[in-house]
Amino acid sequence: MNPIQYTIVPKNPAAHLFEVTLTVAEPDPAGQRFMLPVWIPGSYMIREFARNIVTLQAFNAAGRRIGIEKIDKHAWQVAPHDGPITLRYEVYGWDMSVRAAHLDDTVGFFNGTSVFLAVEGQADAPCSVDIQAPQGAAYRNWRVATALPEARGTKRYGFGTYQAQNYDELADHPVTLGEFALGSFSAHGVKHDIVISGRVTNLDMNRLAADLKRVCEAQIALFEPRTKKAPVDRYVFMTVAVADGYGGLEHRASTALICNRGDLPVQGRAEMTDGYRTYLGLCSHEYFHTWNVKRIKPAAFAPYDLSQENYTSLLWLFEGFTSYYDDLMLVRSGLINAGDYFTLVGKTIAGVQRGSGRLKQTVAESSFDAWVKYYRADENSPNAIVSYYQKGSLIALAFDLSIRAQTANRKSLDDVMRLLWQRYGRDFYNGKARGIAESEVEALFAEATGADLRKLFRDGVHGTRDLPLDALFEPFGVTLATDLATNGTAGKPSLGARTRGGADCTLAVVHDGGAAQKAGLSAGDVLVAIDGLRVTGSNLDGLLSRYLPGAKVEVHAFRRDELRRTELKLDAPEVTRYTLSPVDGRGPAKQWRERWLKG
Ligand SMILES: [Zn+2]
Repeated sequence: MNPIQYTIVPKNPAAHLFEVTLTVAEPDPAGQRFMLPVWIPGSYMIREFARNIVTLQAFNAAGRRIGIEKIDKHAWQVAPHDGPITLRYEVYGWDMSVRAAHLDDTVGFFNGTSVFLAVEGQADAPCSVDIQAPQGAAYRNWRVATALPEARGTKRYGFGTYQAQNYDELADHPVTLGEFALGSFSAHGVKHDIVISGRVTNLDMNRLAADLKRVCEAQIALFEPRTKKAPVDRYVFMTVAVADGYGGLEHRASTALICNRGDLPVQGRAEMTDGYRTYLGLCSHEYFHTWNVKRIKPAAFAPYDLSQENYTSLLWLFEGFTSYYDDLMLVRSGLINAGDYFTLVGKTIAGVQRGSGRLKQTVAESSFDAWVKYYRADENSPNAIVSYYQKGSLIALAFDLSIRAQTANRKSLDDVMRLLWQRYGRDFYNGKARGIAESEVEALFAEATGADLRKLFRDGVHGTRDLPLDALFEPFGVTLATDLATNGTAGKPSLGARTRGGADCTLAVVHDGGAAQKAGLSAGDVLVAIDGLRVTGSNLDGLLSRYLPGAKVEVHAFRRDELRRTELKLDAPEVTRYTLSPVDGRGPAKQWRERWLKG
């Protein structure tokens, strides 16, 4: 098959326009069709990337225009034509996230799913992409960062030609353009690059490289304890540092990240800040996906259908388990201590317990409906849905502890991950692309560990009962306590709502069955006064702390600028914090705990 040739040039950074051309040597003579993906793998929402295509024209080999027609929201068809076809189109990029495309005079970034039209019927054809530099002296120092392999004659980080074996590979390698800081390290013999764009003062790249090396080596050793063979030949962590942002997207040999510049490590300061730990956790999360979801995949993603939703009930396994291992790998690689790790687990438990949605939706249902629920969260989400990330990570924890307790620590969730890897992941890109069917999961867990996990599958994955965490922690000498247990009645009574801070006190979420809902208040209402005293985003806690639970208060609030008055009976204090504490009695608890946290 002749390769499909793409070129992309950041043509007009001020207008945020990329120009893309695409030449197909052997188009369908009956009328070649082209389509742009409607979603990007890893982010389960229909995003209609084609809405950013501004102009589009088709040409024959002589450079003469030929007819092309839009046939639906994301597809085009050229008029019947013999011989090569070239499309030329402009793509608007003004999305500073990791999911789409962005271009201004400081940085360019794109995912193939936002800029490269797929040629229908030629998904398996090799692709080449010529990445060209923007015109002008201001862009003299721009470089190219991507894990796509360079064609002969193109230097690493240089503008020039890059190659992919097929469209799936082309679409799975994001590209950063611009001036960026560059670091690198080797993890079990494989080169890993770190690309940071955005202005960061006194970035400690050496520390970042040393820390990421530990995380990566720990993960490689988890999946391949004997050979320590990484799943890639090369890997790129690419980050855009901004004033306020957080996010990441996994790819087969790289990850695109966005973070607060303040979270990155500073030269001469060795402390582990909350921000840096969060950033390392994000890197660890995306790197773990190199195995779990980029190679071990649900059957629904093998292959991806980028023209519509791909339904799977297994995101709890692919996102939840990855969320469990992201922080666990930080403690296992010695970057955080057990106390810090327990704090993070406590936060996850609080996050799950906060919403009554956990009692109405299972993580399997949450996975299936990700497209319209988790990814389109609104004011009612805490009452209606459960996060397959947070609850999924607690389910992973529950599986891990249960397997360890049942096998006297001889087996663990690591054995499940390794069997998944051996059976589905290792050869995914070596001609054996098979995903795991939903019906195969439970049997695989049993095969890998010999443990009886039926109850956890029934109640945790396919049920809405809270996980028996107290009992699961017990053999590991860990107790779980809430802040109410330690504070008793000292906690402030609750409105049964979550508020947004600031000058105004706006209700963000009204909990189902809570005091605010019973009083007729809704999300979006702006609280004005409680018992005649002005409420702001910052003084609410202070006002409430002067009442006891059950007290009746008069509330004034605006809805659509109309003042309303209501009487509200305050709820009991809410649990806001869960604390995990090690306690060593008799028996092997301490030893078991260390084994769990050290891997
Ligand atoms: Zn993830």
